Amino acid sequence: MKGRKPRVYARDEHVVSRRDMDPDAVKVLYRLHESGHLAYLVGGGVRDLLLGRKPKDYDISTDAHPNRIKRLFRNAFLIGRRFRLAHIKFGPKIIETSTFRREPDVDTREKGEFFHKHDNTFGTPEEDAHRRDFTINALFYNIADFTVIDYVGGLHDLEKGVIRCIGNADLRFKEDPIRMLRAVRFAARMDFTIEPRTWRAVRRNASEVIKAAPPRLLEEVYRFFGYRSGAASFDLLARSRMMVQLFPELVAFLKARRGRQAEFDALLQALDAFGDDYAPPKPELIFATLLHGMFEVRQAEHVERGGHPGHEVIRELIEPLMPRLRIPRRVTDRLVHIIDAQRRFDEAPGERRFSRERFMAQETFRDALDFFDVRTAAGFGNPDSLKDWKLWVKKDPPPEHTERRAPRRRRGGRGRRKLEGRGRKSENGGR
Ligand code: ATP
Ligand code: MG
Repeated sequence: MKGRKPRVYARDEHVVSRRDMDPDAVKVLYRLHESGHLAYLVGGGVRDLLLGRKPKDYDISTDAHPNRIKRLFRNAFLIGRRFRLAHIKFGPKIIETSTFRREPDVDTREKGEFFHKHDNTFGTPEEDAHRRDFTINALFYNIADFTVIDYVGGLHDLEKGVIRCIGNADLRFKEDPIRMLRAVRFAARMDFTIEPRTWRAVRRNASEVIKAAPPRLLEEVYRFFGYRSGAASFDLLARSRMMVQLFPELVAFLKARRGRQAEFDALLQALDAFGDDYAPPKPELIFATLLHGMFEVRQAEHVERGGHPGHEVIRELIEPLMPRLRIPRRVTDRLVHIIDAQRRFDEAPGERRFSRERFMAQETFRDALDFFDVRTAAGFGNPDSLKDWKLWVKKDPPPEHTERRAPRRRRGGRGRRKLEGRGRKSENGGR
């Protein structure tokens, strides 16, 4: 409930230490503090430090307004809608620094739609805590006295391993359906349980999830696979009823062909094992893993009807997925190559009717081999063949292709830049 005093945990009552923090984040905190401002480490950074994990990034909240932040830091760049957020840059690293905000006022009278009367405005630390998604994500570390400030019972939930929505879960999920995916992601990643009310609200509102903006949905799908949590995330995603919203074709496929579920699970686990401790694997590998079973069946049917295996069949399969998640063309193009390459890895050396050199020179070769590696680890590829191909790579390394990037930003694209800033986490719409 709002208006209550927070619980404040003294330095000897928690484990968050400056020594475990990124030195640049500590610098930013101190600069703000010494300039007379409140300066809190917030969000995932505090949560991870409390769990004894190394945070991936650091977010800071302060009562300094963005223009003030800009004046305090030469390396600060204001971004987002109306420049309400500062990125303080240290080389490639960004310390996201924002002014305390409050939940925008919501007017529910408009045809049941949520209508923001005012745009986001700045708020108090308490309001800032209450606009956050889950209690474990709303803890503040105060650089002034090294305390942890808890407005929402987050520390208790962290100790119990519970994901609990702040406020009325139905409202919060309707307001921003991405939060439901975040609940699943955090539960899967940290092996936490989603508190029963929150969980029931997720299942009740599951069909809302596709109302979120496709780029945010896609980003969340990728983020499921960070921290080697793809398999656990998809398990929860299915149980939450959100998977059928995002991947109806895949759910129908797994339902119709029971044997394929075990294969699907094995592939996800193999991808997790293959992946990185933090970052998700490449999007192409993620989609190859998700769609592989469907593709195999479709391909076999196609060949049975006298067709040739190849790109067209794969494209047909991917096409319906694209509007829902708006997967970039660059990703699907590469995905088609990676999936199609698999039949080449499967061929015995004597049967090969293609040039090994030319195959290895393909831009997507290394990724295709990575996916073959995942398939083999899951029990669906020939380990001898994998060994063979890896040997070839060692002997005769294919050229490192610098990947094509997304089309370059147009000149004078200021509006575009603003939009890009908005799509990202804390400045995203609906909050
Ligand atoms: P990760 O370790 O995956 O980065 P995180 O908790 O840091 O997890 P971010 O997406 O980086 O997640 O967001 C930072 C913080 O902003 C969160 O901890 C949470 O307090 C708040 N936040 C992010 N997205 C939302 C949202 N959709 N609704 C409410 N609060 C959010
Ligand atoms: Mg974060």
